[in-house]
Amino acid sequence: QSAKAAGPAGPQKIPGIDRILAIASGKGGVGKSTVASNLATALAAEGRRVGLLDADVYGPSQPRMLGVSGRPASPDGKTILPLRNHGVTLMSLGLMTGENEAVVWRGPMLMGALQQMLTQVQWGALDVLLVDLPPGTGDVQMTLAQKAEVTGAIIVSTPQDIALLDARKGIDMFNKLGTPILGMIENMSTHICSQCGHEEHVFGHGGVRDEAAKLGVPVMAEIPLDMSIRMAADGGTPIVVSHPQSPQAESFRMIARQL
Ligand code: ADP
Repeated sequence: QSAKAAGPAGPQKIPGIDRILAIASGKGGVGKSTVASNLATALAAEGRRVGLLDADVYGPSQPRMLGVSGRPASPDGKTILPLRNHGVTLMSLGLMTGENEAVVWRGPMLMGALQQMLTQVQWGALDVLLVDLPPGTGDVQMTLAQKAEVTGAIIVSTPQDIALLDARKGIDMFNKLGTPILGMIENMSTHICSQCGHEEHVFGHGGVRDEAAKLGVPVMAEIPLDMSIRMAADGGTPIVVSHPQSPQAESFRMIARQL
């Protein structure tokens, strides 16, 4: 039994938006937002019209990762103009609150804010809207699936057992919500020492591949734990844009081409 409600209150198509893809993780800190910003810029590099809705309400990091700041304008007092950088149209709760302000909201307020970001933001015509979800299985995930027609979800996990355990719960939730899982991305897959070239599996090895095989979903990419990815993200220019020729950038473009 799917938890998706039918009828007029059920998931709606957002006018002008062709496909909505949710970027999800079971656990925080596995690199979901880093993957989302690189995937968004990779889709833009492939010529796609792309939007990114940062719904990671407790830690909205997309403004920083995409080098965007300032409050979005609302000239008519009803709709909100999103911001844009690196070819990506962005809206984030982080742009509505100050960078150092905590979002201390209860479920219904979060759900209202998500709905507002989906329907009152002037996204324009988009081929893809990526939604950077908070980690876990909460109100935001459920609201998104119940209010908007989500084409599919991409699950980001490290190979670590604890992250995989939580990722499995996330996959179970999407199955219950009737959202197809498009694939999994293994992040922080391996680390190559920049000094000596020695390769180390900091968070274990092959965990995501085994899990994906069990679940019958594809592994879309294995992204290494790499200082240049972290530095690019901190600097507001994802590695796809700052080092387009790097193998790291190519792995994100490879995922974009699968979408
Ligand atoms: P999440 O959205 O899952 O909470 P973030 O994307 O915010 O995780 O990533 C957590 C931290 O790890 C950030 O400092 C980010 O720059 C870093 N990070 C993420 N992926 C990588 C990677 N592949 N290599 C190096 N650092 C990474």
